Amino acid sequence: MKIKRIEVYQADLPYSGGVYRLSGGREYTSFDATFTRVITDTGLDGWGESTPFGGTYIAAHAKGGRAGIDDIAPAVLGMDPRQTTRVYDAMDGALLGHNHAKAGIDIACWDIFGKAANMPVCDLLGGRIDTPVQMISSIGGDTPEAMRANVAAHRAKGFMGHSIKIGASEADGGPMLDAERIQACLADRQSGEWFLADANNGLTVEHALRMLALLPDGLDFVLEAPCPSWVETQSLRARCKIPLLMDELIQNDADIIQAISQNTCDGVGVKITKQGGLTPSLRQMHLCHAAGLVASIQDTTGSDISFAAILHLAQATPRNILRCALDTRSMVSQTTAQFHAPITNGGATAPTDAGLGIIPDMDVMGTPIAVYEV
Ligand SMILES: [Mg+2]
Repeated sequence: MKIKRIEVYQADLPYSGGVYRLSGGREYTSFDATFTRVITDTGLDGWGESTPFGGTYIAAHAKGGRAGIDDIAPAVLGMDPRQTTRVYDAMDGALLGHNHAKAGIDIACWDIFGKAANMPVCDLLGGRIDTPVQMISSIGGDTPEAMRANVAAHRAKGFMGHSIKIGASEADGGPMLDAERIQACLADRQSGEWFLADANNGLTVEHALRMLALLPDGLDFVLEAPCPSWVETQSLRARCKIPLLMDELIQNDADIIQAISQNTCDGVGVKITKQGGLTPSLRQMHLCHAAGLVASIQDTTGSDISFAAILHLAQATPRNILRCALDTRSMVSQTTAQFHAPITNGGATAPTDAGLGIIPDMDVMGTPIAVYEV
């Protein structure tokens, strides 16, 4: 089996909640998504998605991703897509880094591999674990009472994990407002619930330490991505009793190895576009497992195709390290594919269809914006 043709599609995915706000005054109303269709000489095809959050989240840029595909695609034409690591080696040989440019082709190759083997992707990734995958809510930065109500609304739908966005500017309330947000969101905490306070790299160490000093002892939560650099994160780590998760600063194998060797964190946000597809995400999940770090399996937003990749990887992630997964579908108002994985009691299960189990909506995809062919 050989890759004969690669088609690239683009769609804008409007944020379902209007304006998505992150620390540092960053705002997003829509996400630029790139879809990659890999077609083989046997007629089998596969699909992948790459949706960076926006150019101000990490150093990944949707237009740059498509320029990267332009360099990468010719290098993988003629290869066997089932040899996922060899295809990845060829992509690395054509372009250093630029993970988000590689994610779509890599995910599409796993989709083809599953279809060719007549197995769901989760079984190729190590094997399905027969418990549903718990989703995490995303509670955008707002007034403490509005955030408490948002947590309650997700609790009513069965969500057990909640991601609370923090990182208020001094003008808006600074560390005091962030401390009030955390306390409000945890005020009605139920047994078994798990909370993380995610600053998306937006805090100075000074802000984080002031915020933590304002909180009463005994609040059960995890601090995610507090600071923009490794040095700051390491500094906070040495002076902070709260467990730390890293997200934006963990983009490749070397980052996870650095975090393990320097004891920088207790868990990692594995985001499939950020890590560069399912191949590196699987390897990095294994590194977390070996080191005893928890992992949340997510993506930097995305639509149905991103969620399919998330759910298959999460379905195969050992439950003692799997913290949660993210239903990217709930973040955007545009459906891009049929994918039957309903959320029930806050959890979902990967379908048993061969491959990812998706049927892309060709009306949404439109015509390819680039085609590469042998
Ligand atoms: Mg995060």
